Amino acid sequence: MTATLRAFTIVLATLVASQAGAAGLGVHAVRYVMGTWCDLVIFDPDPAPDVVESAFREIARLDEVLSSWSTESEVSRLNARAGRGPQPVSIDLANVAEESSAMCTSTGGAFDPSVAPLLQAWGFYTESPGLPAPAIGREAASHVGCDRVTVRRNSSTIALADGAALDFGGIGKGYAVDRALAILRARGVTRAKIDFGSSSLGYLGDIDGGWPIVIPDPRDRDNPLLSLRISGGAAVSTSSQRERSFEHDGRRYGHIFDPRLGRPVVESSLLSVTVIAARGSTADALSTALFVMGAADGKRLINRMPGVGAVFVEQSANGLVTTTAGKLPRVTRLSH
Ligand code: ADP
Ligand code: MG
Repeated sequence: MTATLRAFTIVLATLVASQAGAAGLGVHAVRYVMGTWCDLVIFDPDPAPDVVESAFREIARLDEVLSSWSTESEVSRLNARAGRGPQPVSIDLANVAEESSAMCTSTGGAFDPSVAPLLQAWGFYTESPGLPAPAIGREAASHVGCDRVTVRRNSSTIALADGAALDFGGIGKGYAVDRALAILRARGVTRAKIDFGSSSLGYLGDIDGGWPIVIPDPRDRDNPLLSLRISGGAAVSTSSQRERSFEHDGRRYGHIFDPRLGRPVVESSLLSVTVIAARGSTADALSTALFVMGAADGKRLINRMPGVGAVFVEQSANGLVTTTAGKLPRVTRLSH
């Protein structure tokens, strides 16, 4: 982000926050964090003046732990020590890595934070991704697998096999949503919504009639396909290959990889998956996993898990079809 844009962002956030706050109506603030615009709305009248700042500061702090884009982040420094045995890590890195490893096992390797060598080989850490030479792609794939990572949360250590590397792009924003909402709750906020570029959202408390969630057409986000309302604290995450992708010889390759096959998930009828769960990290990791697994296997997995629900958007011969799976326990209204 340019310095001008950054300065504009800070001014915008400050203006929006102070004007809404002055009217006693709550606060709406916007900030560019974790590589995307993040919207925070506090619905309580007159929240403490620095409460917005505390939430954004926590998200920025987590970015310094979890970002694969910065060579200075804690995970990048850990990746540089792969093959050298257990390394001490922060509690946040241990938490995210442990949850990711558990998700790797429960999804049969569809969600796997050790995909980093593949993202690297395919250029997804640059602005111009592309097909790697076959030997480079195969070499990267050989370093991926749930068993390449050993997390010991009690002693806060992580060991990476030689050549392995971690990427938390599929879970980090969800974890940040959870942490930011925990900070708001601890500061006395009772109703808030946090929205990371519409791909990871978190809700604290309740509003009249429940929080409205709109599932849009993944190809045209202005076209709503389905709406539902959830009550109580919840998190929502959406995965689709369209967020970041490139085209080669008429085929489209996106940033979500199938770790079991060692290449991006190929274009199919599945356009997006949205997961609703109690926690942001669960919703975020599962939306990525279900996108990799596809609708049929994804539904089987979701139906076995308590307290989570999913919405699949698929292309059919007759247009777009939305289907749901899981309990979606907090849904009070579902309409087309
Ligand atoms: P978004 O980043 O748009 O919210 P996702 O939550 O689905 O989308 O995360 C996609 C990111 O997760 C990728 O950009 C990459 O960093 C990482 N990733 C890609 N494939 C996998 C996978 N199979 N398992 C875990 N993480 C993945
Ligand atoms: Mg995800």
